[in-house]
Amino acid sequence: MADLLQKVHSELYKKDVEEARQGEAFAPFAEDPNTFSKKFYIESYGCQMNFSDSEIVASILHEEGYGATRNFEEANLVLLNTCSIREKAEQTVRNRLQAFRKVKDSRPGMLIGVLGCMAERLKAKFLEEEKLVDIVVGPDAYRTLPGLVAEAEGGQKSVNVLLSREETYADISPVRLDSNGVTAFVSIMRGCNNMCSFCVVPFTRGRERSRDAESIVAECRDLFERGYREVTLLGQNVDSYHFAPTGGEEVTFALLMEKVALISPLLRVRFSTSHPKDITDDVLRTMAKYENICKYIHLPVQSGNTRILQLMNRTYTREWYLAKVKRIREIIPDCGLSTDVISGFCTETEEEHQDTLSVMALSKFDMAYMFSYSERPGTLAARRYTDDIPEEVKKRRLTEIINLQNNLSKESYTADIGKTFEVLIEGESKRSDMDWVGRNSQNKVVVFPKTERDLKKGDYVRVKIHSATSATLLGNMIAE
Ligand code: SF4
Repeated sequence: MADLLQKVHSELYKKDVEEARQGEAFAPFAEDPNTFSKKFYIESYGCQMNFSDSEIVASILHEEGYGATRNFEEANLVLLNTCSIREKAEQTVRNRLQAFRKVKDSRPGMLIGVLGCMAERLKAKFLEEEKLVDIVVGPDAYRTLPGLVAEAEGGQKSVNVLLSREETYADISPVRLDSNGVTAFVSIMRGCNNMCSFCVVPFTRGRERSRDAESIVAECRDLFERGYREVTLLGQNVDSYHFAPTGGEEVTFALLMEKVALISPLLRVRFSTSHPKDITDDVLRTMAKYENICKYIHLPVQSGNTRILQLMNRTYTREWYLAKVKRIREIIPDCGLSTDVISGFCTETEEEHQDTLSVMALSKFDMAYMFSYSERPGTLAARRYTDDIPEEVKKRRLTEIINLQNNLSKESYTADIGKTFEVLIEGESKRSDMDWVGRNSQNKVVVFPKTERDLKKGDYVRVKIHSATSATLLGNMIAE
């Protein structure tokens, strides 16, 4: 889950995706914000979990009479939902805070709050390090935000970074931020029990807890009735989803996916992220059984060498991972596959780096998130190992990984030329409003010209592919 940030995206599609991910402000409510006495402005950074949390925060503030604005200069409350996955992510937040300094100096009543993983990692220290900040709130404390704002309005800096073993915000219906009205993320669990040695998430998001299954199905049904045609079930490690109320029905991830898929065959179901040790045959067979469960899995590998995987505490071996990929393709032959890879982890040798390249080549990933190791304070790796791989070696290895992945992506997309796919229209292409853009079941971006057919976002069409880049399929609609 940690590396949902950077994806090799199509040049055609890149602009609108990057715009969304790089924390552009969102006007969450259709209603005119001027109908609200108070306004808030929110920027989100990092993984999809953070973006979904911002939708929870928007809903909580809406209940308190706040309207949203895209212009932070007119906001009473400016919020940054932060990421702590790499040093660079935190530096981005610190730089962004400086952008607010001038406006805050000219508008003393304006409050600035930081949310998310960096807030949880630094806690009250954030207030000492960044004098501009008035409020610090961790991922499990968003319900207390209105109270913290009231404290800060009274002139007292406020902090709540308590982690919870129960909190899932199941009863709060998220307000869809800058949504395309077709696809939505639905958080099904919070926290993570895997202690991957390089990762801060267990420290910033706490222990794993699964959300009430009925509340998830209800949210997906509500989205479908409101015209959405795709939901992505979201969690750090969705395969370990497990909800067993006393005296109630025990719901595993496979059963939860089935319940959502049964809402309507017109509702596509995706999920992210999987941990290789927890994805079961049951999950794979449920995916194969339902046409509307998309044939795509994001399966982080991180390294291709067993000794490094053990240092990372990933709890599987190289051989075990390759066997899982083989099993996925046995049960779902046309399954799309993406991954996460870290280059230059502590003590990684050149041979062990070659193992990562060979596992990628053997797994034939369609796309990948690729980073060099960034030591994170407080993690197992930071406490036990020395970050001894020189930066230039990390970078050279990362470049080799990215070059290999670009070739694998090119092969994967080129192999689709001549095939016909069912595509869910998500909107007009950013490059030309004469083109529609959407994705196939394998999560590949497909761009195709409009015809005289009366179509709209949320419609399904069949598209025959005539050409491809390393991240986009180009085709033409075929008559139904
Ligand atoms: S601890 Fe491991 S499984 Fe959990 S979020 Fe971090 S990388 Fe993912």
